[in-house]
Amino acid sequence: MEIRIERNPNPSPKPADESHLGFGKVFTDHMFIMDWDRDKGWHDARIVPFGNLSLHPGTTALHYALEVFEGLKAYRKADGSVQTFRPYENARRINNSAARLAMPQIPEDDFVQAIDTLVKLDEDWVPHSEGTSLYIRPVIIGTDKSVGLHTLNSAMFFIILSPSGSYYPQGINPVKIMVETEDVRAVRGGTGFTKCGGNYAASQRAGELAEEKGFTQVLWLDGVERKYIEEVGSMNMMFKIDGKIVTPELNGSILPGITRKSILELLRADGYDVEERRISLDEVIEACENGKLEEAWGCGTAAVVSPVGWLEVGGKEYEINKGEIGPTVHMLYDEITGIQWGKAPDRFGWTHPVK
Ligand SMILES: *Cc1c(COP(=O)(O)O)cnc(C)c1O
Repeated sequence: MEIRIERNPNPSPKPADESHLGFGKVFTDHMFIMDWDRDKGWHDARIVPFGNLSLHPGTTALHYALEVFEGLKAYRKADGSVQTFRPYENARRINNSAARLAMPQIPEDDFVQAIDTLVKLDEDWVPHSEGTSLYIRPVIIGTDKSVGLHTLNSAMFFIILSPSGSYYPQGINPVKIMVETEDVRAVRGGTGFTKCGGNYAASQRAGELAEEKGFTQVLWLDGVERKYIEEVGSMNMMFKIDGKIVTPELNGSILPGITRKSILELLRADGYDVEERRISLDEVIEACENGKLEEAWGCGTAAVVSPVGWLEVGGKEYEINKGEIGPTVHMLYDEITGIQWGKAPDRFGWTHPVK
């Protein structure tokens, strides 16, 4: 794929203080854009100065949520070079998401080339401090200029980059999670397995109410029986029950996390007992009451792993591992971040140098 590059004549100063980057607020000097229409396919791949998009008010994405996205990071290694983590997994996933929403797919090599070229150009924006990274946000939107919804005839793919602070500036802390019993995030046959903005819109109210009550995130139950564990906010869930690591199976309504997949591969390679299956909330509560629930954690690109110290179910609070971080969470955090920041050997071939 040929990418035209228009350099930003007025680059911004890089944030001097990397301890206050936060997440998703600062953006780099450039962005990648490519257009699609039914006749020409994907065309006009370009990197341009970062700036506002100009969209017709009738743009499909704004009315009917024809939007899918991805999230991954670029990490700076000790030798100064930069690498990403399993970007072809993100390429496959955005295409699965796009297919579900009847949106155009992107050749995997083009997806990765676009990220590589953009990150390379804005390489100086990859922060240097411990735990920091450059967050990469690829997005596809439907761009037909009509409020009549028909088969999509035009789309846009863009990528923006945001230097991000450490997820754990104060060290890993177990969080409080609330089991959501009113709202439902996704149902089988719906869009739960896709990374689409619409899923987040449906989650927003419960998330807001939980935050008001002092919880970090909501734990979603299945949308049909409201009995089985699905996932939390933007993370997949895992439990260690009686020596076994169990996680909900990919049933169509949960998001197939790349962190989840990597953790499962790592655990299996190291001989841990791992199960992907349905897990009911009752099973988790019972294990907690019998002292068999050893650890619980969420996993995703942002945090890698996030231990759950307390689970609230209908006003009752359950404490897990005395509200402390368990050994499996510690081990997983060290193993995965070791590979991502190039501090440990990449024994699974997961890293991708940005050159
Ligand atoms: C992105 C996301 C995850 C985590 O996926 P990773 O690929 O591990 O970052 C989990 N759940 C939801 C709803 C997500 O959007």
